[in-house]
Amino acid sequence: MIEKYVCIVCGRMFPQGQGVKITIKGTDYYFHSKACAYKFLREVVLSADPDCISGVAKDVRRKYDDILEKKREASKKVI
Ligand SMILES: [Zn+2]
Repeated sequence: MIEKYVCIVCGRMFPQGQGVKITIKGTDYYFHSKACAYKFLREVVLSADPDCISGVAKDVRRKYDDILEKKREASKKVI
């Protein structure tokens, strides 16, 4: 039997394998859609202590900067 989860933002039920699941320090958070996950995570980020998350945000941005840089380099090689 497929397990069902309840979206913690809108209360909608959805089957296992769909939706978004995020685990933070052993606690699972379920969202039926990316929109609900975004709504929740945005609130978490805005409510969090900026001193705690600014370093993390910069690290993640650096990660994507690197990915974009590698993509740019890869496309240069083709030309
Ligand atoms: Zn939802």
